[in-house]
Amino acid sequence: MLYHSTRSNSVKIDSAQAVVQGLAPDGGLYMPDSLPAFDWQACLQGDTYEMATRILSALLPDIPDMPQLVKAAYTGKFTAPDLTPTAQAGDITVLELFHGPTSAFKDVALCMLPQLLTRAKAAKGMDKEIRILTATSGDTGKAALAGFQDVPGVSICVFYPDGGVSKVQRAQMVTQEGNNVKVCAVRGNFDDAQTGVKKIFNACADGKLLADKPFTLSSANSINIGRLAPQITYYFKAYRDLLDDGRIALGDKVNFSVPTGNFGDILAGYLAKLLGLPVGMLICASNANNVLTDFIRTGVYDRLRPLHKTISPSMDILVSSNLERLLYLMSGGDTAFVAGLMAQLDSKGSYAIPADMLQKLRGEFWADYCSDESAKAVIAKLWSEAHYLCDPHTAAGFAAAYAYQAETGDKSPMVVLSTASPYKFPAAVLEALGQELTGDEFDQMEALAAKTGCPIPKNLANLQGKPERHTGVIDKAEMAAFALA
Ligand SMILES: *Cc1c(COP(=O)(O)O)cnc(C)c1O
Repeated sequence: MLYHSTRSNSVKIDSAQAVVQGLAPDGGLYMPDSLPAFDWQACLQGDTYEMATRILSALLPDIPDMPQLVKAAYTGKFTAPDLTPTAQAGDITVLELFHGPTSAFKDVALCMLPQLLTRAKAAKGMDKEIRILTATSGDTGKAALAGFQDVPGVSICVFYPDGGVSKVQRAQMVTQEGNNVKVCAVRGNFDDAQTGVKKIFNACADGKLLADKPFTLSSANSINIGRLAPQITYYFKAYRDLLDDGRIALGDKVNFSVPTGNFGDILAGYLAKLLGLPVGMLICASNANNVLTDFIRTGVYDRLRPLHKTISPSMDILVSSNLERLLYLMSGGDTAFVAGLMAQLDSKGSYAIPADMLQKLRGEFWADYCSDESAKAVIAKLWSEAHYLCDPHTAAGFAAAYAYQAETGDKSPMVVLSTASPYKFPAAVLEALGQELTGDEFDQMEALAAKTGCPIPKNLANLQGKPERHTGVIDKAEMAAFALA
């Protein structure tokens, strides 16, 4: 199956190459020439592993051995046998995506990506090492490090914004073991780190900078189609759970509310819909960094605004990479149009889409944002009323879901994607529950467990006392030298 860049369709590569490359040389993101015919009803029949196998085989047909890869990716890594279980919180179904090795939803994709990447590399007969470069707002970094630790033929370099991640997230990354990993803090925010990584890719695009290096570059961010595709599976899984519970009949539409940063998770939901799954409205939930809320409401994307630090740091983003794929899809695959908008975003910091495209977009997506205070109120309310404990990102998803239902009166079943364990953000969750904060983050985890009786995930409890191995802090200008050393 052929893929091309969202910014030009002059160069075509197959799906295995798209995974190996990550980002297209012109700075665009890879999309298939057309989506494959897909039997979505048959897909709902299998267990989570079979669903993943079907979806990944359909989108990445040039990577062989998919059943074995899926098995190797997930077996024994998640504490839930069906990987992504659902729970009820009042009328809302919660899709829990945080039962993987690092307690964030990114594990679902980042357990899979190393399998896809190494198999794709072998299929293409590539023997050069691949170096994964990744900017993280907190969760991708650890999930990618865990996924790629000591994977032969691959090394990984992670940049995170200095002071821009939670203490638990930092501890997860700086204690990372493995002989093929590099981690460094960058002075600046997530957008600085992400732009810095994109610049390294662009600078290396013509191959000259890398000519004397023993590696090529790829990405573990959701700009890589091999990262995005595995996320489609859990939308099918949630739908299947609703069917099994008798909450819907086959064909009924289900709405999904998705805590959003880089627009990867929610775009996977849109791809699930394009593959046939009866998805109703996709609700894009943001925090005070409401650039996507404004865009979906007005059609104007404007990144020129201050970045707010919030209690949901993985959504503290002003440049949402995967929106580019949505613009591509909404414009019917008009690569010149997408390239034009991206050039404007670069030069002016903003762009606007035509009215008819906005109308089409608003038929599929609805958006809202919430303050830290509202997120904390949601955490408290869910705990007291439904005895359900959620993290601040998931709380933004709930807030947007409630707002959507109140404004539209739409009574279709609603699934909120829960993207992280509350124990990744114990300070914010404790405060939301009205508790005094004392001690360090590990004391806070204990306090939260004592208050709620919900168990602390082992991978987080085990961080305590682990030696810090990666304590460097650098300026943006030093990123390339660090990454390519
Ligand atoms: C990454 C992340 C998000 C946002 O996902 P995107 O794919 O970037 O939109 C939301 N919540 C948590 C906890 C995350 O780690």
